[in-house]
Amino acid sequence: MDFRYTPEEKALEKEFDAFFREEMKNAPPEWGTSLEAMIGVDECWEFHKATAKKLAAKGWLARPWPREYGGEEASLIEQFIFNDVMGYHKGAGVDHWGIALLAPTLLVGANEEQKMEHLPPIARGEIWWTQLWSEPGAGSDLASHTTRAVRDGDDYIINGQKVWTTGGHRADWGFLLARTDPEQRRSRGLSFFLLDMKSPGITIKPILHMEKSHLFNEVFFDDVRVPVRNRVGEENEGWVASQMTANFERSMIELFSFLRRELEEFIEYCRETKRGDTSLASNALVRHRLAQIAIDIEAGRAFSYSIVWSQIKGGLIMAAPLAAAAKVLATELVQRFTYIGCDILGQYGQVGESGWAPLMGRFEKGYQTCPGLCMAGGTSEIMRNLICSLGLGLPRSW
Ligand SMILES: Cc1cc2nc3c(=O)[nH]c(=O)nc-3n(C[C@H](O)[C@H](O)[C@H](O)COP(=O)(O)OP(=O)(O)OC[C@H]3O[C@@H](n4cnc5c(N)ncnc54)[C@H](O)[C@@H]3O)c2cc1C
Repeated sequence: MDFRYTPEEKALEKEFDAFFREEMKNAPPEWGTSLEAMIGVDECWEFHKATAKKLAAKGWLARPWPREYGGEEASLIEQFIFNDVMGYHKGAGVDHWGIALLAPTLLVGANEEQKMEHLPPIARGEIWWTQLWSEPGAGSDLASHTTRAVRDGDDYIINGQKVWTTGGHRADWGFLLARTDPEQRRSRGLSFFLLDMKSPGITIKPILHMEKSHLFNEVFFDDVRVPVRNRVGEENEGWVASQMTANFERSMIELFSFLRRELEEFIEYCRETKRGDTSLASNALVRHRLAQIAIDIEAGRAFSYSIVWSQIKGGLIMAAPLAAAAKVLATELVQRFTYIGCDILGQYGQVGESGWAPLMGRFEKGYQTCPGLCMAGGTSEIMRNLICSLGLGLPRSW
C-alpha cells in the first residue's frame, strides 16, 4: 500500500482545502456542532443548500460519475481526498443520502431513463434525498417490512409507515422499500421505489430529539401513487438494490477527519482554560486521555486508507467487511471522544444553550445524540455480524 499522493492529487487536495477553508467562514455558528443542527436549524440548512450549488458549479458533487450524468470520471482516491478535506473542515453542501447512498445504487441498478432523470439534478445540487426504509417493526431486521405497494395500471399505490426518516421534512425525493408481494417472505417480495415527497397522501410528522432538535420524522403513506417507471430493478427484487445501497463505499474518512479537527479545537480549549491555577492541558489525566483519542483517530485514518486501497485493488465485495469495521471504529470513537470530552469539561460539559457552554455546547449536545451514530445505517451489532460472516467466514447468525 502506498500512502503518498501524486503531485496532481496533492494539487487537488490543496484546491479542495482552499475552497472549504474560505466557504466555511460563512457558516452559521451552529453549523458543525451536530448533525441535528446542520439539518434541523433553518439557517444551517440554507447554508448547506447554497454551498451545494457552489460545489456543483465546480463539478465536485459527482466527480467519480460518468460524464453523461454530470460526473468527471474521477478516481476513487480523488473522491477519498475530497471526503477527507471536507470532513476536516466540517464542510457543507454534500447530500449524504443522494450522493453517497442513492447515486451509486442508481449507477449500478437503474435503467438509462432513471439515471438520466435523477442523477444530473443530484450533481447540480438541486434535489435532496431521504431514505425511507426503517419501519416501527423493521430496523435491523429490514426484511420484515410491511409497507405495501399494490400495482394499479401504470402506478403502484403505497400504504404504510416509515420511521426515523432523517431530514424527511427537508427532502424533495425519497428512496423507499415496500412490499409488492405479501405471499413471498422476508427479503423476497420487496421493491425499491423513487418517490416524490410532495406526492398527495404523504404525511410527515416530526420526532424531536430529547435535546429538542428536529432531525427525524415519521412518514405515513395513504394511497400514495408512484409511477411504475420509478421502480428501480425488477418487481419483488428491491432487496438486491437495497443491499447495494447499504454496502457502498464506507471508508468513514470524513468522520475520522472531522474528529481530527474536533480534537484540535478541543486541545486549543484545554490550553486556554484553567481549572484552579493550572490549565486543563497541564493535567496529566486530561493529557493522557487526549493522547489516546489522537492515537485512535490516526489508526482510524490509516484504516480508511487501507479500505480505499482495497477498493481500488479488489472491488466492493472485498471491501464490505472492512467498511463495516470502519463504521464501528469511527462511530464508537465519536461516542468515546464525546464522553471523554464531557468528563474533562466537568459540570460545564452539561451546559447547552448558554454563555457558559464551552465550544457552543457541542459536547452537551453530542452526549445526547452520539449513540445514534452507532445505530444509523446499521447498528454496531449488525456491523459486527457482517464482519463475522463476510470477513471472518463464520456462519451467518440470522
Ligand atoms: C441517527 C439515526 C439516523 C437514522 N436515519 C434513518 C433514515 O434516514 N432512514 C431510515 O430508514 N432509517 C434511519 N434510521 C434507523 C436505523 O436504520 C435503525 O435505527 C437501525 O437499523 C436499527 O433498527 P431499530 O432502531 O429498529 O433497532 P432494532 O433493530 O430493534 O435493534 C434493537 C437492538 O437489537 C440489536 N439487534 C437487532 N438484531 C440483531 C442481530 N441479528 N444480532 C445482534 N444484535 C441485534 C440491535 O443492534 C439493537 O441494539 C436512523 C437511525 C438513527 C439512530
